[in-house]
Amino acid sequence: MKIIPISLPTPFYIGAVNVYLIKEDPVTLIDTGPKTRDAIDALRAGLRANGLTTGDIRRIVLTHAHEDHCGLARSLRDEAQDAEVFVHGWETGHRAARLEHEENLRLLQRAGVPDDEIQSMRRLYEEVRQYADSLDEDHCRELVDGDELEFDTGALRVVHTPGHTPGSCSFVREADRTVIAGDCVLKRITPNPVIAVDPIDPSRRFRSLAEYLVSLARVRSFAPTLVYGGHGDPVHDFEELFNRYLKLIRERQASVIASIPKGGATAWEVSRAVFPNADDVHSFLAVSEAVAHLDYAHSEGKLALEIGDGREVYRRMPTD
Ligand SMILES: [Zn+2]
Ligand SMILES: [Zn+2]
Repeated sequence: MKIIPISLPTPFYIGAVNVYLIKEDPVTLIDTGPKTRDAIDALRAGLRANGLTTGDIRRIVLTHAHEDHCGLARSLRDEAQDAEVFVHGWETGHRAARLEHEENLRLLQRAGVPDDEIQSMRRLYEEVRQYADSLDEDHCRELVDGDELEFDTGALRVVHTPGHTPGSCSFVREADRTVIAGDCVLKRITPNPVIAVDPIDPSRRFRSLAEYLVSLARVRSFAPTLVYGGHGDPVHDFEELFNRYLKLIRERQASVIASIPKGGATAWEVSRAVFPNADDVHSFLAVSEAVAHLDYAHSEGKLALEIGDGREVYRRMPTD
C-alpha cells in the first residue's frame, strides 16, 4: 500500500497542508486541503501525476475538521459521486459548533476575553469559514477508534488522538509502523490545543492538553518508524520529537504559572502576558493555549480556580 503525500497551498499563516493519497483499491484521500482555487488545482495536478483524477476517489478520510484539512471534502465527494467521507463523530459537531455557537462564546467569556476581542475573533472566524463547505453528520460516515480502513493490499487502523481537536484521528499501518497523524504531530511546531466544548458534556470545556498528552503517548506506543503530519516534512525520529514536545510543554506550563500575579489572572490575561505580540487569529490561538495549560495545571493541583462575575480566575496555591 503506497502512501503518497501531496502538498497543497493554503491561505493560512501555517502555510501548505499535506494530504495523503492511498493509491490502492479503494482509492483514498486522507484530508483534502482548503476550498480555494489554488488548492484544488494543486490537488488535481498531484492526482494527475499519479494517473488519477478526482473522479477516481472512492473514500475521503479526514484527520480533523479544520478548514485547511476538510475544506474540499464536500465538493470532492460530489465530483467523485459515490465517494464516502469519513470523520470522527466529535468533529462534525465540533465544526458546526465553532465560534458561532453560544457554548463557544461562553467559553471565551469565562476565559475573560473582552467583548470587543470576542467580536473580532468571530469576524476573523467568518473569514476562515469560507474555506470549507459545511459537513453535515448525515453526509459522513463515522471513524471509530480501532476500526480498520481496508484496502486491497492492507489496512490502516483508526486511532483516535484527541487534543488538537476533540475528534482528531491518526491512521496506523501496522506492517511497517507508519502513522498518518494530521495535526497531532508536526515536525517544526507544537500543535495548538484549540479551545473547544467537551463533546460529551457541552457545559464543560474539553481538556485539550491532558487529552493531547495521552494521544502523544498512544502514538508513541506504536513505536512509529515514520510519521506523516498535517504540515511540513515527515518525522523519522518520533522519540526525539516526543521528548522535545514534552520539554516544551513543561516549559510552557512553568511560564504560564509564573505569569500569574498575586491577585490571580484570567486565561485572557495569562495569554497577554505569555504571548504579548499575539494579534488577529493568534490572540484566539494564544488564549486557547493559555486555557489548555491552566486547565492542566489546575487538574494537577498547582492552581486554584475561582469563578467571579462569570469569569474564571486562576491563583497560585498559597504554598507557592
Ligand atoms: Zn488543525
Ligand atoms: Zn492543520
